[in-house]
Amino acid sequence: MSKKVAVLPGDGIGPDIMAQAQRVLEAVDKDKIFEVTPAAIGGAAFEKFESHFPEETKKICEAADAILFGSVGGPIDQAHLPKWKNCETNSILALRKTFQLNVNLRPVKLYPALTAISPLKDSVIGNGTDILIIRELVGDIYFGEHKQYQENNKRHAFDSAEYDEDQIAIAAHQAFQAAKHRRGKVTSVDKANVMATSKLWREIVSEVGKQYPDVTLEHMLVDNCAMQLILNPGQFDVMVTANLFGDILSDAASAIPGSLGLMPSASLNASGFGLYEPSGGSAPDIAGKNCANPIGQILSLAMMLRYSFEMHDAASAIENAVRQALEAGYRTADILTEGARKIGTKEMTDAIISFIES
Ligand code: NAD
Repeated sequence: MSKKVAVLPGDGIGPDIMAQAQRVLEAVDKDKIFEVTPAAIGGAAFEKFESHFPEETKKICEAADAILFGSVGGPIDQAHLPKWKNCETNSILALRKTFQLNVNLRPVKLYPALTAISPLKDSVIGNGTDILIIRELVGDIYFGEHKQYQENNKRHAFDSAEYDEDQIAIAAHQAFQAAKHRRGKVTSVDKANVMATSKLWREIVSEVGKQYPDVTLEHMLVDNCAMQLILNPGQFDVMVTANLFGDILSDAASAIPGSLGLMPSASLNASGFGLYEPSGGSAPDIAGKNCANPIGQILSLAMMLRYSFEMHDAASAIENAVRQALEAGYRTADILTEGARKIGTKEMTDAIISFIES
């Protein structure tokens, strides 16, 4: 039976790196089981349909088994133009809402070949860094009430945050399941010394944890966690946290491997449907120049094969080929190390495909 993938390249470097991920998919799809349907999203969609997430794209995504997403958005200084106004909210947040994507998975992996570009010292990253950050996506302060008001001649502001136990349990199960196939440890991050939502978070994660006796659970306050990520990132295996804390901690952690261009991500719903995208944005400064790093998009493809299609061998083949290409000294501009030769987007993909096929 064919496997249907909606491919949404988007804007900026999105089309550059998506074209390379599709070449990698062809390289691992020996039995030609994948049926790929491209669709417009973001500013590219607005130009044609005057919508960042057109109905036609929605239908293609609904008919697919998974979505492979590039990136959306234009130059920051042009954010007020109709084509770019609310582009990210109208496309990526609309997709999250349409498909009820409850959790975001962001692996943060430091490659031994790239320790020189990590901002952390060798003595700190010596134990290696391989963290899977799981961020709850559909609750918390992002979906609460926000208002500014005037009272007693003073300006006030108010934001509300809410969680229900099901939202927390979905993220917790995802974390414990993932830890079973990794190093068997979950760190749940909250602010339970202050916030009611965090107290509930801790309660539910602890209850879910009882169903996974072979996984070790620890709780950590978010302020300590931010510090521990810099002091000793090697201590973390799977981290699970609420929407706002996850947004901040995953961006902070993404600095450790040395470039956004290396980082994949997956957003999944409760029934396992997923959207896969690199962690970076549309990088308009380098779009169309054959210099963007395709690895984040290619590893997002590997996550799609693993989580949506259970094709673990194909996913591992891609992940190993990326590691081998980096060990062999292939470098795009963002990960250039001393003595290495700079190559382009397409040439990096050529190298990765040659290791897949060797
Ligand atoms: P950005 O992630 O696009 O770029 C930040 C820096 O990282 C730039 O110097 C860029 O060149 C570099 N970079 C990013 N990906 C790279 C890659 N694959 N290879 C090499 N270098 C890479 O963030 P920004 O400049 O703040 O935002 C640009 C646009 O992207 C904005 O319109 C923003 O709204 C949008 N954005 C979209 C998403 C998304 O689609 N999910 C996420 C973040 C930002």
